[in-house]
Amino acid sequence: MSIRKFMERFPDEQACRDYLFQVRWPRGFICTKCGESKYSYIKTRNLFECSYCKTQTSTTSNTIMHRTKLPLRYWLLTFYWVASGERCSARKISKTLKLNYRTALLLLYNVRLAMYKGEYDAYFAFWIPNEPQTPHIVKKAKLRLLKKAERFIRKHYRHISERRRESYFYEFRFRNNNQHDPSTAIDKLTMYCSTTIYSLNEYRIKRTIA
Ligand SMILES: [Zn+2]
Repeated sequence: MSIRKFMERFPDEQACRDYLFQVRWPRGFICTKCGESKYSYIKTRNLFECSYCKTQTSTTSNTIMHRTKLPLRYWLLTFYWVASGERCSARKISKTLKLNYRTALLLLYNVRLAMYKGEYDAYFAFWIPNEPQTPHIVKKAKLRLLKKAERFIRKHYRHISERRRESYFYEFRFRNNNQHDPSTAIDKLTMYCSTTIYSLNEYRIKRTIA
């Protein structure tokens, strides 16, 4: 999908909300607290109220976008940029979307966390030190990926915070696993970012993106 097609597909916030709803609840709304599927829609606040336990949920609550104040278009555009294989630094996002640099950093950081959780089962984490019983062939494969990832970071990002180095590995792994099919990559990333998280602590989501 070209950037132009993207803009046509998501002309406004409602289009983004409808799309994220479809991705998150493909078989219809399910209350994240009690599992009920009946709800009423509070149009003025874009909230879904569970008919059983009265919990109010938005399209983004308890996802990686929890309590975001950013337009959903910014999120979707970021998924698009990251997943389509383009270089996607916080500087580029802050410049293009006219966001403060720190907000752009946090936005990308959350997207990388979703990449980590989304691909967790399928591929092993090459940045985690080997156990003594790790087979030699696995050690070699991990080392090869680690070197490739370091090259990727050096090529795409000039200064990175050492504390967050690991999150760049998540991004590398996602890109590496999905590089041959950008359109599926975008769908996958959108799904990872819009699925329900049952424990926000697990994701280390402590602050929201203003
Ligand atoms: Zn409920």
